[in-house]
Formats: sequence, C-alpha cells, structure tokens
Amino acid sequence: MTITVLPHREALGLKAGQLLVGGQWGPGRDGATWTHHHPATSEEIGEFAVATAADVDDAVAAARQAFEGGWARSRAGTRISLLHRYANLLREHADELRALQALDNSVPLSFGGIYATSVGAAADVVDHHAGWVDKIGGETLPAYQGGDHLAMTFREPIGVVAAILPWNAPFLLFAQKVAPALAAGCTVVLKPSEYATFSVLRMVELLVEAGLPDGVLNVVTGPGDPVGEALITHRDVDKVSFTGSRAVGKHIVEASAGTLKRVSLELGGKSPAVVFSDAPNVGLAAMTTMGAVTLGLSGQACVANTRALVHRDVYDEFIGAAAGIAAAVTYGDPFDPGVLSSPLVNARQLERVLGYIEQGKSEGRLVTGGERLDGDLANGNFVSPTIFADVDNSATVAQEEIFGPVLAVVPFDDEEEAVRLANDTEYGLGAGLFTADGQRAFRVARRLKAGTIGINGFQIEPHLPFGGFKQSGLGREGGRSAFEAYTELKSVLMPLTEELM
Ligand code: NAD
Repeated sequence: MTITVLPHREALGLKAGQLLVGGQWGPGRDGATWTHHHPATSEEIGEFAVATAADVDDAVAAARQAFEGGWARSRAGTRISLLHRYANLLREHADELRALQALDNSVPLSFGGIYATSVGAAADVVDHHAGWVDKIGGETLPAYQGGDHLAMTFREPIGVVAAILPWNAPFLLFAQKVAPALAAGCTVVLKPSEYATFSVLRMVELLVEAGLPDGVLNVVTGPGDPVGEALITHRDVDKVSFTGSRAVGKHIVEASAGTLKRVSLELGGKSPAVVFSDAPNVGLAAMTTMGAVTLGLSGQACVANTRALVHRDVYDEFIGAAAGIAAAVTYGDPFDPGVLSSPLVNARQLERVLGYIEQGKSEGRLVTGGERLDGDLANGNFVSPTIFADVDNSATVAQEEIFGPVLAVVPFDDEEEAVRLANDTEYGLGAGLFTADGQRAFRVARRLKAGTIGINGFQIEPHLPFGGFKQSGLGREGGRSAFEAYTELKSVLMPLTEELM
C-alpha cells in the first residue's frame, strides 16, 4: 500500500501561505501561487503565494521604513526581551514545527532528536544572539597623534537584509540569519525555500506573536527566480545573507555587484572523514560518517562527510561497518516513528543523484545501494544508501557535492597522504578526524582547510562560528562573528583642543 501524508495535513489545519509585508499578511499582487508536492508521496500538500517584483519592492520599502523609523535605534532591552520571548515560543511549538517540516521536506519526526536540526537548537541560537545585543559596540582607542585626540569606532546595523534560506534545515538556518540580524538592529526581507515554506511561515507567525513590530521582518515566498532574483538585485537591499548551493552563491556575488551589497554565503561541501588506523572505534567512525550520509536527511546536509578517507589497515572493517549502517536505514512515512530517513527533496534532485550514481559505477566499486526504491515508495524520490569503494580522490563522485545518500571511500597509506587528499577539493566546509593520538588529531586539524572539524565525533554548537573555507562560502554564522557581520564599522574622530584642528 502506498503511503499518504494527507491526514497529517488535515490534523495540522494547514492553510494557504501568504506574504508578510509591513505587518500585513496577504496574497501576491497577481494572485500567483506555488503548489507544494510532498517528496515522499508526490501528493499536493498546499499552496503559497508567489511574490511579484512589485511585492518584493513593497517588502523592501517596509523593511527600510522600519529600519529608519526606529528599529535600528531601539532600546537594547526591547530587542533582548523580544528574542528571548521568541525562543521560548519556539520551544513551546516544537512538535507542531517538526510536523510542518515533515509536510515540507519529509524529514522524519524521529530525526527531531538530532540537536543540529531540532527546534531546540534554533531556540538556543536565538537566545545566544539576544545576549550580544548589549555587549558588542565599538572601541575607544589610544589616539595615534597624542592624547588630545579622540579616536573611536562605532558598530552600526547594516540596514535592510535579504535573508535567503535553503530547504534542508529550516529551523536552524532561519535562526542563524534572523536572530543576529534583528539583534544587531537590522530589518529583514526573508525568502524561504520553495521546498520548505510552511514550517518557516509558522516560525514567522510565532515571531509576530512574540511582539515583532510591523515591517521589521517581511516575508516573500516563491521560487528563486523571480523572487530571490528580485531581492539580490534590489537597489535598496544592503546585505544578502544566503545559504544554499555553490552555483546560486556565485550567481549572487555577480548579481549583487551592481550595488556592491554586503554578502554572506553558506554553501555546499564535500567534507572528508579521515579514519586513521588507530581510530579508537572504527565501527563508531563508520556510524558517524555513514549515519550523516544516510539518516534523517539522506545525505542532503551541507556538512555531511560524504568522502571517507580510510587507512588501508582498517579499510575493509570500515566498509563492512558502513554497509551495516546502510542496511539498517528505514524509509517511508515521515510521521512513522520507525522511519529514520527521507526521500530526496524533488524529482530534479532525484534525477541528479541517480546520474551521479551511474557515473560512480565507472569510478569505483559499488558496495551497496545505487537504486531508486519502488514498491510502496514508488511515488516518492527515495534512493537507497549507496557506498562506492576504491574511488580515486579525483573522481567526480569524490569531488562534487551530490547531496544524496552516497559515500565515496578512498584508501590512504600515511598521514601526509591523508592531509593531501583531504585538502584536494574546491570545498572547505567541514572535516572529521578519527584517531586515538591526541597530538596527531590537533596536528592534522591545523593543516586541514575547512571551517569546522570534528575529532572522533561531530556536533553543532550555537555559539561557535560555522562556515566555509574556499568555495564553501564567505563569512561565518554563529557566535560573535555572525552578529558583527550584520554591522558596519565606523571610525569617529575628534580633536579635543582647537589648536590641533
Ligand atoms: P539552492 O541554492 O537551490 O536554493 C537556496 C535558496 O536560494 C532557495 O530559497 C532558492 O529559492 C533560492 N534561489 C535559487 N535561485 C536563486 C536566484 N537566482 N536568486 C536568488 N535566490 C535564489 O539550494 P537548496 O537546494 O535549497 O539547498 C541545498 C544547498 O544548500 C546545498 O548545496 C547545501 O550544501 C547548501 N547548504 C549549506 C549550508 C551551510 O551552512 N553551509 C546549510 C544548508 C545547506
């Protein structure tokens, strides 16, 4: 029997999604809508408005008015208490939000316990940034030309921010953009992904319920072109904060150059897991690596270690353990607590991943998987967990971000080779190291060109910077650096006597 998620849509009372402009919810100017099809069943889940260029103009104008009208200079206490109230509302509505996410992107409810993708992590990010509001400012520096000069720096909010989200981790990524932007005194025009809109709209409703003033955050829904495109080229947007694919990230740099917007980019990766022969537990290394490539998001996670570099002494043991994990992954109705993973997000991504798998068959040894799942799951975009062994690091499946449940395993002989292979990629988002030798762990961690490195395990921390080296991005989200990225630094000078003027 094929699966259906429609009863959950009814139970949640899903309504049509609207735009939020200047505090008013409403349809787009021309009434156009997008119909969302569920990735696991292809069922029609619901509709939301597609913003026109004129709607985007209105949203940017509302954000500008709210910025100049007071949000930028609002009391610190107003912003702090709003953000803490919001974090608590998120926690209270965690179950509802997880269910909406399951309707959006089919991430199973069972995955909600993983901290990185949980509503709780998003709430912690909001609380964390509330803490910076009254702690980050400029400096008063010793005057270079003597004591009768004042030399100071001010930190000021950048202005109107276009925040553009991907579909795969809407809670965390919403919080990582919206919380520091609002905390710094910026106003926002938000564009959720067209593949995860309903859960984000509910997050916005809760922000309004927490007391958000009109126009401080506005929402324009719809696909990248035309909605995102209208934002990244808009003359009155000061900064674009984007999380998504490298291709769109590069396009944003080009398209925003006309007005030299500030740009933050969180892009993709081809992160290595480096498993040394002295790994304390090879089975756990395989679980951590293959788990990230298969469980929950089916490998559709930016920082998943989709490239395993494994010392020849533990190579067969690692592959055997990874294949065991692959065999244990379950698929189906995301509301079923026994389901551990998801389909690919849409038919386009399904075709793309199956294309990479075909290519992989000529680039390595297919250990397991490589197929589209059929039977009860035939209406969904499900692909079985796939391992290619004996892959050369220069192969396509070892170099390109596949964004699916595909692991490429590359053997190595010594530490020098491992470091060279790990860094032999255009990306630099993350890396995992598995070794019992503490000195080696830090020695190698220092040599890897990646933004986040997990030693014998991995976790997301709301207060640590996260982002990419090389083509994995520009800038960092999380922590103080994220807050500062929503500010401009201004130098202010004043001679203290008339003689010096
Ligand atoms: P995507 O690039 O297709 O879309 C991301 C967002 O950009 C969506 O809202 C989309 O509508 C919008 N968009 C598309 N074209 C646009 C255009 N021309 N102008 C403006 N906006 C446009 O990515 P996706 O499939 O939603 O997400 C997957 C990608 O995101 C992967 O590459 C993944 O690695 C990356 N990602 C990175 C991080 C990180 O923190 N580094 C986190 C999650 C996902």
